[in-house]
Amino acid sequence: MRVTLLGTGDTTGTPTVGCDCETCQRARERGIERTRFSVHVENERTGESILVDASPDFRHQFLTQDVSLPDAVVVTHIHFDHLDGLGNAYRVFDSLPVYAADEVDPVTEESVADTVRRKYDYLDRVTVHDRTPMERFEVCGLELRLIPVDHPPLLCYGLVVADPETGGKLSMTGDTSFAVPDASREALADPDLLLADAIVPAANCEYHPLGGKHHDDDGVPRTFGSKHMTREGALDLAAELDADRTRLVHLAHYYPADEAFEEPLAVDGERYVL
Ligand SMILES: [Zn+2]
Ligand SMILES: [Zn+2]
Ligand SMILES: [Zn+2]
Repeated sequence: MRVTLLGTGDTTGTPTVGCDCETCQRARERGIERTRFSVHVENERTGESILVDASPDFRHQFLTQDVSLPDAVVVTHIHFDHLDGLGNAYRVFDSLPVYAADEVDPVTEESVADTVRRKYDYLDRVTVHDRTPMERFEVCGLELRLIPVDHPPLLCYGLVVADPETGGKLSMTGDTSFAVPDASREALADPDLLLADAIVPAANCEYHPLGGKHHDDDGVPRTFGSKHMTREGALDLAAELDADRTRLVHLAHYYPADEAFEEPLAVDGERYVL
């Protein structure tokens, strides 16, 4: 499979509109973008592809990256930056299957699949297919599994994509704190490529009203606030999962400029073959 990182930013992206911080300025100077989260996964044998999350930057991403329009979409959760790009399906697709979890969220009283169905009811080209977390299902000749993670207050899922021909494995944490359940860690383990949510460095927790959580033995917070992993948390998880290669994604412009473009922080357009 061929994996293209279409969007590696958080909900405001980098550069953030109207922001003159040093990180956003440097991104502009270097022509680097971190648009809202989205990953393109292509089965090169069939030419079919899957879009993981429908970024509000969908149009820009498909105009600037050399990838085919997807044959299917997987939605991990219902936050704006992962779902609201789905409106782009209008007059671009004849039909677009969307796969999402069937588990009812006590907060919204509906599943991710139900929310997508309700919000995009006006788009008859979009059909939503319910899938049960942790169960394997096939899309475009690849094997997928939605993996429960921890992104309060909403239900959210990571994703494993396995290529049955090459044995390649892509694991994505989805938006999550460090409190990924054990069974989910097991499912995400041993990937060829891990894409891990690392919204800010741990040092930024002092600016969050909730501070940080899930501290390591040295007192470094692995969760920023309650919803996302810190860089240190994501790297810790990557080590535990024994990932061959790790790219940090869902990155905010709050990274200090001298750290924001260091390895292994991803930028839009990176491509991997697994
Ligand atoms: Zn900025
Ligand atoms: Zn989110
Ligand atoms: Zn997000």
